[in-house]
Amino acid sequence: MSTRPKIALHWQILIGLILGIVVGLAINTLWDASTWNSMGIDDPSAWVNGSDIEAVNQDPSIAARAALFVRNLNGFVGDLFLRGLRFIAVPIVVFSLIVGASSLNDLSKLSRIGGKTIGIYLVTTAVAISIGLLFANIAKPGSFVSEETRDGFVAQFGEQAQEKVLAAQKPDVWDTVLNIVPKNPFEAIAAGNMLQVVFASLLVGIALTLIKREKAVVVIKFFDAMTDVIIKIVEIVLMIAPYAVFALIVEQIAELGLDILGSLAAYSLVVVAGLATMMFIIYPLVLRVLTGSSGIGYGRFFRAISPAQLLAFSSASSSATLPVTMECCEQRMGIKEEVSAFVLPIGATINMDGTALYQGVAAVFIAQLYGMDLSISQQLTIVLTATLASIGTAGVPGVGMIMLVIVLQSVGIPLEGIAVILGVDRILDMCRTSCNVTGDCMVCAVVASSEDAIESPEQIQARMNAPLDEDPVDEGRLDG
Ligand code: ASP
Repeated sequence: MSTRPKIALHWQILIGLILGIVVGLAINTLWDASTWNSMGIDDPSAWVNGSDIEAVNQDPSIAARAALFVRNLNGFVGDLFLRGLRFIAVPIVVFSLIVGASSLNDLSKLSRIGGKTIGIYLVTTAVAISIGLLFANIAKPGSFVSEETRDGFVAQFGEQAQEKVLAAQKPDVWDTVLNIVPKNPFEAIAAGNMLQVVFASLLVGIALTLIKREKAVVVIKFFDAMTDVIIKIVEIVLMIAPYAVFALIVEQIAELGLDILGSLAAYSLVVVAGLATMMFIIYPLVLRVLTGSSGIGYGRFFRAISPAQLLAFSSASSSATLPVTMECCEQRMGIKEEVSAFVLPIGATINMDGTALYQGVAAVFIAQLYGMDLSISQQLTIVLTATLASIGTAGVPGVGMIMLVIVLQSVGIPLEGIAVILGVDRILDMCRTSCNVTGDCMVCAVVASSEDAIESPEQIQARMNAPLDEDPVDEGRLDG
């Protein structure tokens, strides 16, 4: 297949992203109701939302029809891409985890990898919240918002905030653990419940090591081939990634309330600074220290995972990004499937460092808005509840804010404060999802290196250059 792009995929995606931001900003600032009016549209929102076109205007101009068509096409491309990624997410986990677990041949190795994975996930999450709390306590973003602005936001977004509060359910630890075991594995697959899917696939993989070898081999070969098929489908979906990223970003930036961003600039900057510290200082440092002399350096790490980071930013969904995260870790970083297929799906489901950091900053910010001083013990409670809340946060857009309700409740911070930060949530969600995915990749690399399950750069190069019949799925993979 001669699909090898001339420009590496991550550059293409980056170009899509930057163009999306530029065009989105231009639309945001230059295109307003009067632009629609000049095209013969009196009620832009009814026209854009497609409600009764005749009632909106007797005679929409060609330009208005064209503008609406472009907008709809844009939405279609973005949604098509996200659907493609979701289409792959469950099968890739099932197939590669069955192959990975069945090739381990060793239960103690599996529990060792599991222990390390969960342990590092929990520690990095607690570190992330602590950084968020530290930054918010030092920068005091709450002092930059006046009481009138606060009350204005509460009046404007109060209803939407109330919906988030109602959607939040306090997680019960027993139920959460019990829920990992699916009543029906096919139902878990159909519903895309990742933890259950991981559990069921692991069980099948382990059971395969316990039956007669000649029978097991047939099944393993089948799933191995299916893994390659799915990786091919990832490549096909990724062909539209640069356009889709453009489409997703244009939509978000065009609809972003820039004036809101202004009054919440200090808060947003604290969140972004915390996330950047995690992504660009803490993770590379931990990686360097824990991967020893054969360590994975800054350049190698970020070159390998940049497509996943960019897609996480564009989609605001760790789950949708999962197939690309797996592809990046396996193909570009050289991590063996037996580790990545286990560590990454669990990470996309429970490891949300960015979300936890954001919840820490948001809690302190809202407390400052309401003149509350949080004691050390209250801040420790936030560390604990935000760690648990981030585990319970699904890897889809906006859920981090719903789980924030539980964090606020745990220390008695007024819930109406959620209305204040709602307007900038999507853009911060994009940033925190990038951090979430980066954290998953970092832990995956650390665990793989401790298990000697990672290729050297030379081995990766040799694999990439291998003739087609040696490894039929290599050609055309994410290269960069
Ligand atoms: N969107 C985030 C993710 O998918 C979760 C959140 O913080 O809302 O990782």
